[in-house]
Amino acid sequence: MFNLILFGPPGAGKGTQAVKIAKEYNWKHISTGDILRAEVSGYTPLGLKVKAMMEAGHLVPDELLIEIMESVFLKHQNADGFVLDGFPRTLNQAEELDRMLLKIGQKVDLVLALEVEVDELAARLVNRALEQGRKDDTEEVIKHRLVQYLHHTKPLVDYYKEKGTYREVYGVGTIDNIFNQLCSVIKS
Ligand code: ADP
Repeated sequence: MFNLILFGPPGAGKGTQAVKIAKEYNWKHISTGDILRAEVSGYTPLGLKVKAMMEAGHLVPDELLIEIMESVFLKHQNADGFVLDGFPRTLNQAEELDRMLLKIGQKVDLVLALEVEVDELAARLVNRALEQGRKDDTEEVIKHRLVQYLHHTKPLVDYYKEKGTYREVYGVGTIDNIFNQLCSVIKS
């Protein structure tokens, strides 16, 4: 089993690349953003709990994410690998992920970060708002999500650098070009 974290700020292109990588290697793509949005649109108890937080661009509490991920690993025990997209987002989530994987004899094998400048990120997110109408893609909320990323998520770079699993790819260019670069890091 290969466990890959696709890492980077909102708008870096994690979702797009995660789908392609999962298809190429037959790994399971897990997007916590997609999972949470499905809960919200299904009006489930979890969805009702997180709706306002997501729309405001806040992070959803760690306990809820950890519960979600535990059930993901339980449900896909026979997967060849995972592409995690949007998780972990806090140091606590990263530590819990290590613990969960250890329990099933696994570890995080690779953390691939997509590097994109802040101005480009903001422009992409505004564009996505126009195209997809995501409720958390308004200017104010976008700013808040970028701040959340800087405060809570970016510190994970050092966590994974220390473990020696962290690699970076420049996330501006054509989708296929970036995909090829990601694949060559995975193969090495
Ligand atoms: P983006 O990467 O564009 O910010 P996502 O689709 O990954 O968007 O996530 C959307 C929202 O879902 C986040 O702003 C947050 O509210 C919630 N969310 C997703 N994953 C996590 C996580 N691991 N921890 C906390 N909140 C999360």
